[in-house]
Amino acid sequence: MSADPSARLDELRRGLAETEDRIVAACTAAGRDRSEITLVVVTKTYPASDVDLLAGLGVTDVGENRHPEAGDKADEVEAAVRWHFLGGLQTNKAGAVARYADLVHSVDRVKLVNSLSRGAEAAGRTLTCLVQVDFDATDPGRAGVVPSGIPDLAAAIATAPGLQLGGLMTVAPLGDDPVPHFEHLARLSAALREDHPDASMISAGMSGDFEAAIAAGATHLRIGRSILGARASTG
Ligand SMILES: *Cc1c(COP(=O)(O)O)cnc(C)c1O
Repeated sequence: MSADPSARLDELRRGLAETEDRIVAACTAAGRDRSEITLVVVTKTYPASDVDLLAGLGVTDVGENRHPEAGDKADEVEAAVRWHFLGGLQTNKAGAVARYADLVHSVDRVKLVNSLSRGAEAAGRTLTCLVQVDFDATDPGRAGVVPSGIPDLAAAIATAPGLQLGGLMTVAPLGDDPVPHFEHLARLSAALREDHPDASMISAGMSGDFEAAIAAGATHLRIGRSILGARASTG
């Protein structure tokens, strides 16, 4: 990363253009329209100045995965962008996220719903929440609910004051072929929409696997490294 703002702007412009070309190619291959897909640029570990530069390049949605760093960055950024919160949350801190986040992709338990709802109500805002689904039940450390837990969690979000049910999100298990997981998520989304027709967001696909996510029907891609460069820490 360069300290010179105009050099950094060029880097970001190039990263964004290359990624955009790949998104368009994957849409064409899948017979989908680019307009069906929202690119969320994941800016975690990168400075607020990068978010302002990205906004100048037309980026409207950015993603962060750590609280309170995400809130500090949101305060510092001058551009009007939508903030997507993607990371793990402690129940007692979740309410504070509602102050700056527009969407939370990582809702995986009812306690979090209650806390986010209270936070959204207190801030006088509506927070769109996605249910994070996990397909690797063998690893108890992973975030997300198993598919059978989706209906209860979705109902809790849909009825909570200040919250709106957006849809589903997943992170493909590391080292696995992501395709079956993304296809499974798409089937779960179709089932969810039988009860919640407006909950149509499918958040899937990162730098390493977004083409597969587009092929499987993702509506929201969460892409960091391909655009901003390799992170110094895993964030
Ligand atoms: C960091 C992160 C991303 C982006 O990952 P890249 O490999 O940088 O594209 C997407 N989703 C979540 C939940 C993340 O934490």
